[in-house]
Amino acid sequence: MKKITSCCYVKYYIGAKNVKYKKITPVRYILTFILLLCAILPVAIAPAPVKSATAGITLNSSVQISYPTLITFRIQAQSSDNIIQLRLHYIVDRQNYASVVSEGWAVFNPAASVETQWVWDMRKSSLPPGANVEYWWSALDAAGRTAMTEHYSLVFNDDRYKWQSISEGPVTLSWYSGNDSFANSLMEAAQQGLTRIKNNTGAVPEGKVHIYIYASAQDLQGAHLFAPQWEGGVNFTGYNVIAIGVHTSQLEWGRRAVAHELTHWIVNQITFNSYGAGLPVWLEEGLATYGEGELSFDYQYALDSAIKNNKLISVRSLSSPFSALSEEAYISYGESNSIVTFLIENYGKDNMKKLLDVFQKGSGYDEALQQVYGFDQDGLDLLWRQSLDIEESFSEQSPDISITLITGPVLSLVS
Ligand SMILES: [Zn+2]
Repeated sequence: MKKITSCCYVKYYIGAKNVKYKKITPVRYILTFILLLCAILPVAIAPAPVKSATAGITLNSSVQISYPTLITFRIQAQSSDNIIQLRLHYIVDRQNYASVVSEGWAVFNPAASVETQWVWDMRKSSLPPGANVEYWWSALDAAGRTAMTEHYSLVFNDDRYKWQSISEGPVTLSWYSGNDSFANSLMEAAQQGLTRIKNNTGAVPEGKVHIYIYASAQDLQGAHLFAPQWEGGVNFTGYNVIAIGVHTSQLEWGRRAVAHELTHWIVNQITFNSYGAGLPVWLEEGLATYGEGELSFDYQYALDSAIKNNKLISVRSLSSPFSALSEEAYISYGESNSIVTFLIENYGKDNMKKLLDVFQKGSGYDEALQQVYGFDQDGLDLLWRQSLDIEESFSEQSPDISITLITGPVLSLVS
């Protein structure tokens, strides 16, 4: 079972029996490029049935995608002796992870001619929209002969909708509801977010990302299994896929959500490390809200109220996942933005880039800050609070302010 990184606190898991490890040839990168091209097409691409014959065994493979629940891999095999084993081998294309070859064992009665299938049930291990899968079959007959098909690829596209796509720089944006200006505005927000992060932190994306804009949070939640009810946007960072539910009446929220999730993607890219070490949440969310541009009214109001009422949360506490209580969560986002802004404005973008680079090496939170700035999280807390002209020591009491939550079709925080 392997953890798939996604935005913030949402974790998805993909499991498979009989997992083996295999090194992938450079051909896979060419395949990936072709797959990315396929991914922007409005319909799911599945290879046509293909025949393959090796050493007396004839194999005939096909695949059917039933988004979001199933992928059915079918195989026909013929030999002069009984076919006794048919296995599907597949690799999910995920950035920054060791390639894992998984296997699915088809169930059938041994015979000289066999027609069977192996079904990937997404209720057990899900894939995000746009995920790329490389697969092939192997066969064994009773005489000990073996055969293998060519390697094929598929894109797990959400073909329930008629997608349109636009691309600019590293970003491809697909949508199916709303006109061109709606999509262009979201793309503009994405580009502005990229520029803002580049100019203020020095962070530049190394790959490409595909953003799927669903017409609502409800549509998004129907796009993949295990989606939490609050979900308004999901960042499948390992897959370079972002999915956000944006109703056409919520364009301004959507622009923020696109920039926010895009920033998460960039930061994850440049800080990913094999040690499994992450960033403190205040840094992740502070950068993501920084990428949005001016702090949203709700976060600013929560921050101002917390300052006024001495209800700020310590930097150290903000290094852990934020409270599920919306009022505290709003303060946490507002504070995180303020802390990151303080670091950028007082110590410059080069140091912020250095900090991200240190985290990429798997450093602890306090050690990373010490190395770059010469103070730890408590020191940061003190300096940041001094910058706000707050004399008292911070309070860990729960905030009691009242905040009006965003309501409407996309009720949720973008985490
Ligand atoms: Zn976030």
